[in-house]
Amino acid sequence: MKTCPKCKVEKDEAEFSKQTRNKDGLDYRCKSCVREYQQTDAFKASQKAYQQTDAYKAYKKAYQQTDAYKAYKKAYRQTDAYKAYKKAYPQTDAYKASLKAYQQTDAYKASLKAYQQTDDYKEYQKAYQKAYRLTNAYKASQKAYQQTDAFKASRKKAYQKKKALAASLPGNAAS
Ligand SMILES: [Zn+2]
Repeated sequence: MKTCPKCKVEKDEAEFSKQTRNKDGLDYRCKSCVREYQQTDAFKASQKAYQQTDAYKAYKKAYQQTDAYKAYKKAYRQTDAYKAYKKAYPQTDAYKASLKAYQQTDAYKASLKAYQQTDDYKEYQKAYQKAYRLTNAYKASQKAYQQTDAFKASRKKAYQKKKALAASLPGNAAS
């Protein structure tokens, strides 16, 4: 048994987190007091400040190289929570804004240009256009285009050219 100095309640050792740097190997506050503390703005602010330090960044980087972290990440990606997040995230404004900003960078433009030179991309474009022509959206846009004056003018021009060509052929001049 150990008495928590915060709430002054004597509690079982199981009610205290392990803390190897302390003499008795236990946190000096009980779990519920720690939990309470973690809800305070003071704790949240100190956490935030800590996460800006180089020490924390170095620790995080090192941690992300560990097998434990990789296993955790892998398991996390299998969860429904993650799958739902992944599905919802591209719809968020934050994502759209970050994507837009990224697409303005020279690095992105260069990588896009390089990608468009690859055979993979050309194949993809071909397949995409083929599939697109089968969609109702394409058919509707074609139909709308055929109603435009620009289209009618180009049709008329092509027709007149054909007519002029036919007239210029020998034997057709009289007709
Ligand atoms: Zn306590």
